[in-house]
Amino acid sequence: MFDVIIVASGKSSRMGTINKLLFEIGSESVLSKSIRAFISHPKITSIIIVTNSDSIRDVLSAFPQEKVICVAGGETRSDSVESGLKCAQSDYVLIHDAARPFVSSDLVSRIMESVEKKGSGIPVLPISDSVGEISNTGELVGRAKNKHVSIQTPQGFITTEIKKAYELRNGITYPDESSLYISTLNKQPLTVIGDSNNIKLTTPADLFGLNSLIGIGYDLHRLIPNRKLVLGGIEIASDLGPLAHSDGDALIHALIDALLSAMGSVDIGTHFPNTSPQFKDADSTILLSNVYEMLKSKHLTVSNISLIAILDSPKLSDYIPLMKIKISNLLNISQDMIGISAKTSEGTHLNMLEAFAAVKLL
Ligand code: MG
Repeated sequence: MFDVIIVASGKSSRMGTINKLLFEIGSESVLSKSIRAFISHPKITSIIIVTNSDSIRDVLSAFPQEKVICVAGGETRSDSVESGLKCAQSDYVLIHDAARPFVSSDLVSRIMESVEKKGSGIPVLPISDSVGEISNTGELVGRAKNKHVSIQTPQGFITTEIKKAYELRNGITYPDESSLYISTLNKQPLTVIGDSNNIKLTTPADLFGLNSLIGIGYDLHRLIPNRKLVLGGIEIASDLGPLAHSDGDALIHALIDALLSAMGSVDIGTHFPNTSPQFKDADSTILLSNVYEMLKSKHLTVSNISLIAILDSPKLSDYIPLMKIKISNLLNISQDMIGISAKTSEGTHLNMLEAFAAVKLL
């Protein structure tokens, strides 16, 4: 059986003010995701989280206390792992950085197999770039001769053996257990092929885009006389306006559908039925505000918006800055993050109004 030590005592110094382990990916924190990668594995007895942070201890309350235990960390990574190892009682141990939340159960199983059969398992990946060596003054002195790999976690060992390695370290700090193992025991641990998805979240750039939700929307209305033309929440001087149950603001309708789609929700017609008297001639910007409230309740923000209106006349260019101000205010997003382009159909869709929208949510 295995115990797992998850090191969650780093200071996130390269992340700025964010504690990267509390950053949410989808609806789960980085730390929680890392724990969940191990918790249901049948060969795992206990998961030992090493941390000094109260907010990290709060995350642990969601897990069964008989399985997930918490111990205080030390000054350095090596100190922290050493204090975690004091609680490790199974024959084998996996040591993992909490900042690698995408570790797969397949990788965990392959490392376990290597440890059980051969006494150790270190996940490594070949480096695709050429690796060179430079002098102290920065000149390239040659290409590295040996085969180089990048080293990941979790790293697996026989518990008594890695405890012995820690006893022999003499207070020296090592970047990971594989380097400690080589230096103190003078042995070479076995490698297994790592996983390119098993990235370590180190800088804010690593977090960028993890939670992106993309949505697209489309709308079409026929244009008829004696109807007001409202687009992007702005009234436009026109002889024709859309035939619609609501105000027929195709640009806002496409935008609403894009937002609902990004959230995985049902479409505008289901939320705001065109059979309901409540929405007769409705101001579509009010519907957009309702959708914005839905976004907020899911802790989502709109990152950027891209809109296209297709209309043969009148020309929309003068109205676009006003539409941007309107949408920017409704969705609490900078005008710079809203792109609106206007096209004509070149007469192929006379008396028609079409709109497309794409959004990114974070
Ligand atoms: Mg519509």
